[in-house]
Amino acid sequence: MFLWRASLRNRFTIAVCVLSIASGCAVQKFLRVEERQLDARLRFFLGGGGNSMVLTHGREAFLVDVKFGGAAKSLRHRVEAELARTVRRALVTHSHFDHAQGLEQFRGLGPVLVHPNTRRRLEADGVRAQWVDVEGPIELRLGDEVVRVWHPGRGHTDGDLVAYLVERKLLVTGDLVTAQLEPVIDVDAGGDVLAWAATVDGLLTLDFVTALPGHGDPVGRDALSTLRDYLRLVERAVAEGQRQGWTEDEVAARVALEQAPALDPVPFGANREKTIRLMDRALRARRLPRE
Ligand SMILES: [Zn+2]
Repeated sequence: MFLWRASLRNRFTIAVCVLSIASGCAVQKFLRVEERQLDARLRFFLGGGGNSMVLTHGREAFLVDVKFGGAAKSLRHRVEAELARTVRRALVTHSHFDHAQGLEQFRGLGPVLVHPNTRRRLEADGVRAQWVDVEGPIELRLGDEVVRVWHPGRGHTDGDLVAYLVERKLLVTGDLVTAQLEPVIDVDAGGDVLAWAATVDGLLTLDFVTALPGHGDPVGRDALSTLRDYLRLVERAVAEGQRQGWTEDEVAARVALEQAPALDPVPFGANREKTIRLMDRALRARRLPRE
């Protein structure tokens, strides 16, 4: 509850709350959990907040993102009671409540991998766990499974972690990738629209086939290149508008992105105009020290 209440200061959280009220259809999609079993050891739990991944090894399970509220309880019941696995380790990809608030449900949980910036935000919200800070890359060996975890750079926040299951060529991205949605740039949590394309470009150097995004269905490599290209398209178009001497309002009104992919807005959280405005501010801020 602490996290929920404290996170109301966070504009992204407010966006999701308003979304819940404003759009029954969208919220149903957001809250409904769909379990997908990929093989005997690997399952995705899509929706119910952020997507989760459960990798079992022996009688234990490794969990990436823990959802929130009732969906987190259901996830725990499914893994602990029905699959009879103990969640020994977890990873939270970032601090947003729909990915991290469910930590409260896993009280017997061991180490929780987290980026220090995310940990500080969660601690400020009253969340306690057996944190393990991850800044540089680390490698987990879970049975015969190798999982690499690291912070690939800024974008959605300044504390996102990704997990890469080497043998499976599977990348779990959290909200650094939300395939059909306009990217949510959480500036209050260190999100950086200007850095995001390079962060995604770095991920594309990995030999992965499938990515589990923060929300929505699993995607292929093309979803990441589409996101990177979109962010670079916005950067180029906004920079050109600034060269014309346009103000931020003029940039927002005049920049046309005919080549941009169709992305769904996140009501009160992300839309094309907001992405353009944040890009405008980021580019102006980057120039400031030299002016
Ligand atoms: Zn998020």
